[in-house]
Amino acid sequence: MTSNDLPPLLVSACLMGEPCRYDGKDYPCPAVRKLANTRTLIPICPEVMAGLPTPRACAELQPSGRVVDADDIDRTAAFEAGAAEAVRIAREHGCTQAILKSKSPSCGKGLIYDGTFSGTLVPGMGKAAQALIDAGIEVLSENDCADLQS
Ligand code: SF4
Repeated sequence: MTSNDLPPLLVSACLMGEPCRYDGKDYPCPAVRKLANTRTLIPICPEVMAGLPTPRACAELQPSGRVVDADDIDRTAAFEAGAAEAVRIAREHGCTQAILKSKSPSCGKGLIYDGTFSGTLVPGMGKAAQALIDAGIEVLSENDCADLQS
């Protein structure tokens, strides 16, 4: 199989340089952007796709599974809608893998903030990352680019 035969790769849009983070900034990752030389990249931002504004209040996943922002507004429905849209787009493009931004309440895989807005990380999955895994899509973070076939 040549690299051109590999399926498109779903990517967190902020890693590609889209200023879609809650604070209106991006988080460009050279290793992820370099993958565009060999893979078709499909950028997504689950929170923006759910209709949340940019900038927006920082949100964290609570131990209950709810997502609450720093203004104490429950954003669970929006985060779940964004996760469902991420799965829909992945399926539409035939993606089997995703590179998602670490630690995000949407995109984080393995470690996320604990819901206290104190900068404390705990084991866990962001809403979109979990939905993609449940849909059978391999989820990696920007720190795992070297593990990708390209
Ligand atoms: S939801 Fe994902 S893609 Fe959007 S800004 Fe947050 S980490 Fe980046």
